[in-house]
Amino acid sequence: MDNRKAILFSAPSGSGKTTIIKQLLQYFNCFEFSISATSRKPRQGEVDGKDYYFLSTEAFKQRVQQGDFLEWEEVYEGTCYGTLKSEINRIWDKGNVIIFDVDVNGGMNLKKYFGDSALAIFVMPPSVEVLEQRLRSRGTESEEAIIKRLGRSAAELRESDKFDVTVINDNLQEAVEKTKNIIKNYLED
Ligand code: ADP
Ligand code: 5GP
Repeated sequence: MDNRKAILFSAPSGSGKTTIIKQLLQYFNCFEFSISATSRKPRQGEVDGKDYYFLSTEAFKQRVQQGDFLEWEEVYEGTCYGTLKSEINRIWDKGNVIIFDVDVNGGMNLKKYFGDSALAIFVMPPSVEVLEQRLRSRGTESEEAIIKRLGRSAAELRESDKFDVTVINDNLQEAVEKTKNIIKNYLED
């Protein structure tokens, strides 16, 4: 099997990407998470260099100027996220498959970049009401941030057909099983 492959997950915030990815990382031991850089502050429990590389806005801009990013986006006003070029070789040099958790634009850009070397998965919430419920019950964002995230979700949901596959995340275990099967088929090809 050629391991120089990538699986990328995109969806509106709150759809369940991170939750699904955590289970997949435990199941497939050749999978490794691409640690993005972000200018947002860490949430409780998030670790620098594991969940994200947390940078100040200034440091993020400097890395942009240096050409360190494969892609980056100001996903929410004033908050940037980006994939560092260095993550690709860090993971592929170990023979691992790269797992990306990126916003919908980032997902489309990375799919263009990787072509057939990447499987692009869109994680679809069962409804916008459930999406809002999940975002609120996660309890990690201020009301202002929740509104920004929900405000983006309608446009993001319209882009689902640009991805290789869509997985509806209603029942979590069913979504994880479905995703595992899709990935196994892709990696066996
Ligand atoms: P994302 O990474 O897409 O922003 P998260 O993985 O953080 O989303 O999930 C958002 C919230 O929804 C979390 O509190 C998570 O525990 C919960 N969640 C995820 N998937 C499900 C599901 N299938 N059913 C119920 N709650 C879910
Ligand atoms: P969160 O703040 O909830 O961790 O992430 C917010 C959004 O930013 C999510 O949609 C997440 O997928 C996206 N994101 C995280 N890292 C990257 C990245 O490197 N590039 C892009 N384009 N989006 C990212």
